[in-house]
Amino acid sequence: MHNSKMKRKRAVDQWVDIYLTEAEKQIQIKQEREFKKKVYRKWKGVCYICGQKCSKHETNLHHLSGRSWAKLDRINVENAVVVHKRCHKRYHKYYNHKRSSKWMLVEFVKVNYPENYEKVK
Ligand SMILES: [Zn+2]
Repeated sequence: MHNSKMKRKRAVDQWVDIYLTEAEKQIQIKQEREFKKKVYRKWKGVCYICGQKCSKHETNLHHLSGRSWAKLDRINVENAVVVHKRCHKRYHKYYNHKRSSKWMLVEFVKVNYPENYEKVK
């Protein structure tokens, strides 16, 4: 398997529930992949934070309601936005993964990218 493909596979696998059976895990992995594609298409690959286009390899998905607590919105397209890896990392330096919610992201945009705030508020 190609190296970048392996990396992508691992990135997906890390979110899969360890208590699932192998067949259930495969279903979940497939769901996640479909989900990511849909979210990317919905946002046309534009970063929610800085407003610039992301190429596929620099794209992360961000869950508006953090996936560690909003389990039912794990693959809800309405709950996810496209962000650059670097913008995502910067955001989570200030806002913890476990508590993250939409208003925190909007506030982050307001402070750091005021020119993009009108689009996301
Ligand atoms: Zn960005």
